[in-house]
Amino acid sequence: MTVPLGRVTPVVRVAPAKLNLTLAVMGRRPDGFHALHSVMATLDLADRLAMGPAFGPEDRLHVVGDGSGPVPDLGPVEDNLVLRAIRAARQALRAGGDDRPLPALAVRLEKRIPVAAGLAGGSSDAVAALDGALEAWGAGDLLDPEARAAVAGSLGSDCPFFLAGGWAAVEGRGERVRPLPPPRGEAPGVLLVTPSVSVPTPAVFERYAAGVRPAGGAALASSTHLAGELQAGLSTARLLERAGVLASANDLVPATVALVPELVAARRALARLLERPVGQSGSGPTLWALSPSKADALGDAVIVRAALADGLLSLPGDGPPFIAAAALVGGSATAPS
Ligand code: ATP
Repeated sequence: MTVPLGRVTPVVRVAPAKLNLTLAVMGRRPDGFHALHSVMATLDLADRLAMGPAFGPEDRLHVVGDGSGPVPDLGPVEDNLVLRAIRAARQALRAGGDDRPLPALAVRLEKRIPVAAGLAGGSSDAVAALDGALEAWGAGDLLDPEARAAVAGSLGSDCPFFLAGGWAAVEGRGERVRPLPPPRGEAPGVLLVTPSVSVPTPAVFERYAAGVRPAGGAALASSTHLAGELQAGLSTARLLERAGVLASANDLVPATVALVPELVAARRALARLLERPVGQSGSGPTLWALSPSKADALGDAVIVRAALADGLLSLPGDGPPFIAAAALVGGSATAPS
């Protein structure tokens, strides 16, 4: 759409969460980041961004929750990835020689993805804000895919993945993204359980770097094998047969549980209750259990909530856990709702 110079078109963006089905850490790079191999997929659990003119000199952000609890604490507003993404978009356009007015934007961010949970909600918000800002200014065609990828990469390691979303094998520190076909058949479901404990990603990588890591390279073998199988046309049923292998293919688990030892018992208890392997997404603390469909995952959520209410399951944390059923649908962070 052509937007008159200096005008802002209101836009809406959906920013999906991601799930790590595998996560292999392959060593530290000279730049200090760890090199990874991970098979990731976007979920239908998503934040929502509405963007429009700020009617003032500064970009503004208003964060709301999903109505079920308090508004999540995202830290200092000026550090928020949404505002950083808008600033980065402006800078990239200026660096590319564009001198059109780029008015301040106001963003309403509806947070549905739990924060610091290993689901990369912040990174997804950043990519949605980057894309939304460009469209709002009518400048979507002024940043080519390489320039967009560079801006996304500067905002966070998970950001390049969200440019396309879907299923992908992600390598390097996250900048190499190889799209994969989703499993054949119905989209797999997943139960997400995020105990209310603090597990900052940098602290987990510090523990890993200090030697708190699994022996052997099983996660890397499982991760590359899964990528190959998906590429060859794996079905959802076959993917579920591999749930046990995938649940143990996350090299960050020892570092995560070094920070919160109670997660070991929580994960075992969940696996016993559901009679299913339970994995960890990213640096945690979100735990996942795959199922044949979202409907099945909704059933799992009922079982877990009932077990918690009846005292048959206890999870660590100073508040109630986040429990949600989702589908591994493979949407993109840039798709309007
Ligand atoms: P990652 O594994 O990429 O660190 P995560 O799922 O563990 O992701 P996020 O929810 O993406 O964690 O947020 C990590 C931190 O980033 C939070 O502690 C928060 O202070 C900060 N942050 C900045 N902007 C946002 C945002 N829009 N949404 C969530 N967190 C944000």
